[in-house]
Amino acid sequence: MKDSAEKFISELLGRMTLEEKIGQLNQPQGGENINPEDIRSGKVGSLIKSAGALPGKEKSGSLGVEQANQLQQYALESRLKIPLIIGRDVIHGCRTIFPIPLAQAASFDPELAEKASSIAAQEASACGIKWTFAPMLDIARDPRWGRVAEGNGEDPFLGARMAVALVKGFQGEDMSEENKIVACAKHYVGYGSAEGGRDYENGEISEPTLRDIYLPPFKSAVQAGVGTVMSAFLDLNGTPATANHRLLSEILRGEWGFEGFVVSDWTSITELIQHGVAEDKAEAAAKALQAGVDMDMCSQAYMDTLVENLQAGKVSEQEINDATRRVLRIKQQAGLFTHPFTDPARFAREVLTGESRQLARQFAQASMVLLKNNDSILPLKDFHKILVAGDFVHARGELYGTWSLDGVDEDCVAFDQALTQVSPKNTQFWFASDPDQALDYALEAEVIVLLLGEHPSRSGENANISDLSLPAGQARLVDLMITLGKPVILVIFAGRPLVLTRQVQQADAVIFAWHPGIEGAAALGEVLFGAASPGGHLPITFPRATGQVPIYYNHKNSGRPVTPGGWFNSRYIDLPSSPLFPFGYGLSYTSFEYNNMRLSHEIMRDSLSIQAEVTNIGSRAGRELVQLYVRDLVGSLTRPVRQLKGFQHLELQPGETQCVSFKLTEEMLAFTRADGTFDVEPGRFNVWIAPNSASGLRAEFRL
Ligand code: BGC
Repeated sequence: MKDSAEKFISELLGRMTLEEKIGQLNQPQGGENINPEDIRSGKVGSLIKSAGALPGKEKSGSLGVEQANQLQQYALESRLKIPLIIGRDVIHGCRTIFPIPLAQAASFDPELAEKASSIAAQEASACGIKWTFAPMLDIARDPRWGRVAEGNGEDPFLGARMAVALVKGFQGEDMSEENKIVACAKHYVGYGSAEGGRDYENGEISEPTLRDIYLPPFKSAVQAGVGTVMSAFLDLNGTPATANHRLLSEILRGEWGFEGFVVSDWTSITELIQHGVAEDKAEAAAKALQAGVDMDMCSQAYMDTLVENLQAGKVSEQEINDATRRVLRIKQQAGLFTHPFTDPARFAREVLTGESRQLARQFAQASMVLLKNNDSILPLKDFHKILVAGDFVHARGELYGTWSLDGVDEDCVAFDQALTQVSPKNTQFWFASDPDQALDYALEAEVIVLLLGEHPSRSGENANISDLSLPAGQARLVDLMITLGKPVILVIFAGRPLVLTRQVQQADAVIFAWHPGIEGAAALGEVLFGAASPGGHLPITFPRATGQVPIYYNHKNSGRPVTPGGWFNSRYIDLPSSPLFPFGYGLSYTSFEYNNMRLSHEIMRDSLSIQAEVTNIGSRAGRELVQLYVRDLVGSLTRPVRQLKGFQHLELQPGETQCVSFKLTEEMLAFTRADGTFDVEPGRFNVWIAPNSASGLRAEFRL
């Protein structure tokens, strides 16, 4: 099968002119603006259908199956009839918008993520889109960076698990199936290390940290068969990722055996000029191609300069052939040569179905993190008069979050309607969006629910902030409501961790709901009234103050770690050292107790089984996320104080105890060592079975 495909590609390649090959490497932005003659003459290999760098609000209908088919028709009128691959940013849903990726990670539920990306693929493909620029796999330790919303948070183990699930969901077993699309692991690599959390800024990452923290999600995506990879904007350690031969050719292709193609990020090839590693467009194109970038997104540099570069001996024909072959290979694997067109009838059948909405609701609930719940005030019971106030009271499309190009506001049910539908019959609501109105109603209400947080445009690409506090005015509204002495429930919608130190103290309960997507309002309603439970756990550390950033759980110990009452150690004198909430944290509507941790052996040979008993000590059935962490106590290089190595959900009835069991293998303990090799080092290890990264039962073993 593989041989015959390669033979087909070789034969095709043999018939292509130089210009036609370069055309395959060219991806303009398009649509309506595209000149059909450019496609017919083989100058366009792919089109990116994008509303621009920032998401707009196009409707899915306008994605236009007819238009996609028309564009393919032009391609089939070209000399060699090579189909286009049409791409679009379908990031966390197409028309059915699921929670933002960071929220999806908070579910710690790769199965749900796979289902959601599978629905996204179905909807996108029904719109004539065969390629998405997702999943975004950038590890992020700095919540000031707006694009933290688009990834899986700070942890490489969780990031890798989500990567595999998302790739599988988009591509399935066979991406030539009509409801599957080609995925793109981005932004390779280190983009989340942008200095100061400023998007597009450069980053410096040491080799061991690159290997052990930033690369693993990408490696897992490649192992899961991801078809394409996008090179990042950033300058990493002095070499921009788009001109980085070592990353793209040696590691990605050489070490990992990646056989798909690499696309640049939007104009990141010509940005090599601004970075200062290329004199002009021609040099930028030569550097990118030689580094291993196969397709040029929107800079036109390959199109304009590769012929001249070849004549000047700056690139070789072999390099152009290799890149073209890789693009054709993915087109072949995506089934485009045999099925270039999309059946227009699919749209009505396959886009925004009852099942997709149901999954969106379940996913939103699984991602909402209960941060505080004093005296089990949630779920709300015995309250009949409820004031709902705050900036999100009338939110609809605001619940979608960043990168929801095809989300339609009207698809989203607003809170007044959703809460009324899911609450007990005799509940009376008031909805107030300004403080004066809220004050009036509050006098009569028995409980106050505040819907606060950041607008989607305050996170995502190029939406960095220097202060992680709530947006202007919101803290004052909380202060005001607190003075009334009534119970206050805080619900926060956001694309990143926010600093909520004061508000968490003030409120009786806090739910962090992220940007939850199309079913966000009903999902929240069911959580508030107990028809569903909030299931999320933090995939990224929540700081007490912006000045604590970067703060992440898998840090090194330092020579002077913080000890209670200690002095001259790694701390601020104006803040406690701990975060507000650690990685992995999340409460539920019941409580769990961990007991009787046991290891199968005190000395690990190949593998070890680690067990503990978890009991539901509350009065409601519940689901607990049990986490496995290790620490390598002595290494040839310093080791993180904890590393996540496993997680499992347990469903427990009140009073029920279950034994949870993890298998830890030797290879899970390997790391990039002082001599640059990747392997284990014998010695002592700590291991925890824990409800989050800052607590749990601990044991020790030797390797
Ligand atoms: C972003 C990518 C995105 C691309 C295409 C760029 O600005 O960095 O994540 O896929 O635009 O829209």
